[in-house]
Amino acid sequence: MAFWNEEIETMPREKLEEMQLRLLRAKVQEMYEVSSFFRGRMDEAGVKPEDITSFEAFRKVPFMRKSDLRDNYPDKLFVRPYDELVRVHVSSGTTGKPTVVGYTRKDLENWTESLARGMTSFGMSNKDMFQNFHGYGLFTGGLGVHYGAEKVGATVLPIGTGNTERQIQLMQDLPVTVWAGTPSYMFHIADVCDQKGVDIRKDTKVRLAIAGGEPWSESMRQKLQKRTGVRVHNCYGASEFYGPMFLECSEQCGLHVWADLCYMEILDENGEPCEDGERGEIVVTMLQKEAFPLIRYKIGDISALDWSPCKCGRTHPRLMRITGRTDDMLVVRGVNVFPSQIESVIGEMPFLSPFYHITLNNANYMDSMVVEVELDEEHLTEDMVELSRMTRLTADRMKSVLNIKADVRLVLPGTLPRFEGKASHVTDNRSYERSVPLHPALGYLQMVAVHAACRVDAVLLQIALEEYLHREEVLCELAAVLGQTGDFASVAVPFLSLEDAVLLQLLQLLGHGVAGGYGLVDLPTGLVPEEVEEHHHVDNMLLPE
Ligand SMILES: [Zn+2]
Repeated sequence: MAFWNEEIETMPREKLEEMQLRLLRAKVQEMYEVSSFFRGRMDEAGVKPEDITSFEAFRKVPFMRKSDLRDNYPDKLFVRPYDELVRVHVSSGTTGKPTVVGYTRKDLENWTESLARGMTSFGMSNKDMFQNFHGYGLFTGGLGVHYGAEKVGATVLPIGTGNTERQIQLMQDLPVTVWAGTPSYMFHIADVCDQKGVDIRKDTKVRLAIAGGEPWSESMRQKLQKRTGVRVHNCYGASEFYGPMFLECSEQCGLHVWADLCYMEILDENGEPCEDGERGEIVVTMLQKEAFPLIRYKIGDISALDWSPCKCGRTHPRLMRITGRTDDMLVVRGVNVFPSQIESVIGEMPFLSPFYHITLNNANYMDSMVVEVELDEEHLTEDMVELSRMTRLTADRMKSVLNIKADVRLVLPGTLPRFEGKASHVTDNRSYERSVPLHPALGYLQMVAVHAACRVDAVLLQIALEEYLHREEVLCELAAVLGQTGDFASVAVPFLSLEDAVLLQLLQLLGHGVAGGYGLVDLPTGLVPEEVEEHHHVDNMLLPE
């Protein structure tokens, strides 16, 4: 069993905790002296650095939140001058201002050390060639794993995001053995390999991967491994920490959180520490971070920490999979819904792939939730009875788990978005500010403006078309909305002359009760033009005369 830094990685827990407490106290003392933000918070809470004599006493230190980063944009929380900084990264904030993070030389060394330990722990070495799908630039993923891989002596192929065909060509031509990227991009690679008749097992040497940068589940891992033959290891981090930082060892039983670099707390709703293995909110203190220290930072992720010994021999605690965020809770018709609950139902159904998308609408102030899920490749069928059986099974199970009804639509494999950045599973079209309820069709048309492209399947689309042709009243309703006369013919013409994508969107609107035979593809912002082309492909042969 190879270690990168055996002495530290196998240090007994008591010694690690001794070290953590010593580093914690030093960091609090230092921050109290150099950070007016931190001193202000401590004074407000009536806590002095010398009070921090134990982990328990440390819990008196106030939390840092994402909003603190936003309020102190861009660099007011840095405690070192730019003279001492050798890099900054900027992460795109999903709401509000981006987060700017700065690094001293020592910060970059610690970040790289953390990744070198993790990469060694799942079997990477100087014998490997490392193909990095992560985007380079301001995003921490690309450069982070790049330097980690170089540190362990691997040969790095810094190809970055996109250009899938070239990625696949190079992984065949060069002795690439390890991938790094988002899990959804790896599925996309697998899809394109299938289309091109490339067998990853036979035509490439790829055997290991690091996947992260977006939430994903254990069932996704199993499916990805089964499809590609590549052993995939989870990765966790955030630009606020440094970047991607913690990896799973070859045991694949959680991510080793290096206790000399990070003191991680898991807290329950009352702010009390959770038991080993019990789920709660992650709170992070970086023990050796210099330029932009983090003390009791609430990252917003929910998971558990396990200090029980790992078979690999490493003594540092293991972080379990992230099962949710403190802020991803959806309230649908007054019921709290977590996407992770939907994920767990999907995981139970052998005929479903892990790709899903939730759309929330509130036509006439009534919330509705549509869950689109891709069928598993092996369970693809044109048998409508079987399709509706699978749909009903999934919908019933969801109702019992979520306590509200979800409109489940099974879609073809490969039709839901594969984001190259963070996968976004929820589109919330609800608005509570309208004075006049909007017809759902208009809502859809608005959505069409920001959505594009789709792929369709001949048989199922024809079923959908037949279905709508017999539902004149639905078209009349639509016509009224579109400002038309309500006459079938006069509606049908502009309707059918609309863009393909619009037509298919409308078909979906009209096709309630029809098993979904087509999928919508969001235009993922990170997609390169070549892949937009791919998603745009619509076979015009399928459209009615
Ligand atoms: Zn381990």
